[in-house]
Amino acid sequence: MIEAARLAAEMNPANQPHSAIVARALGGPPTHRASIAAVIAKKWPSTGVRLSVKFMDKPETALRKKILSHMNAWGKTANVVFTETNGTGQVRIARLDTQADGGFWSYVGVEILVIPPGEPTLNLEGFTINTIDSEFNRVVRHEAGHTLGFPHEHMRRELVDRIDEKKAIAFFGKTQGWSPQEVKEQVLTPIEESALLHTSNADPKSIMCYQIPGSITKSGKPILGGTDIDDIDASFAASIYPKAVAKKTATMKIPKRSAGFA
Ligand SMILES: [Zn+2]
Repeated sequence: MIEAARLAAEMNPANQPHSAIVARALGGPPTHRASIAAVIAKKWPSTGVRLSVKFMDKPETALRKKILSHMNAWGKTANVVFTETNGTGQVRIARLDTQADGGFWSYVGVEILVIPPGEPTLNLEGFTINTIDSEFNRVVRHEAGHTLGFPHEHMRRELVDRIDEKKAIAFFGKTQGWSPQEVKEQVLTPIEESALLHTSNADPKSIMCYQIPGSITKSGKPILGGTDIDDIDASFAASIYPKAVAKKTATMKIPKRSAGFA
């Protein structure tokens, strides 16, 4: 963890302490992989992200291509490219289905660099070429977002404050098999906003936001949650990892008056 912290700070000075390391998506069976408390945000350098991807259990070509293409959906607006490798791979994808390691999860950002080479950094239990497209959108893009260093949007204080703690513990215990402690870690602990680069308002339709049913919010209204990279996600990712822009500044006309420009 110390090594991950050092790396993160070195690679992107915007990295600051926060509280999500192993981040899970809903929909898999319970997982008991240890969550480690708070160290740092784990963004890659703002110059862009080029990561090699190894599939650990040799899925068919069509599935490998499909998973990669959904990970690369972030590259539409952001300077992000995932490329398959037969080598060790920086991102290592498994489809573990054990009690301890099953489900959908990913380590966050530069943390993947300190995971032992024989271990996965991202898990997609049960994914096959027959998995419905909407799950590729919802799950693969979400987990790739974690790999890019994005934490859960529902951990923003603005959204956590809407959730009823007791109801949430009962609900996720029943539907995901999570212990009260896991519910606290995954849903009820806000990330300190000061520690994040973030959009000005929490985005309940972010791909990084869980779907929270109205039955566990204080108002009774659901938090919609994301089913795909939305416009706010796409432009936020582009702001963190901007694509190279043509050098136009040299010929740009400088307005005589600055008043009125914003
Ligand atoms: Zn997640």
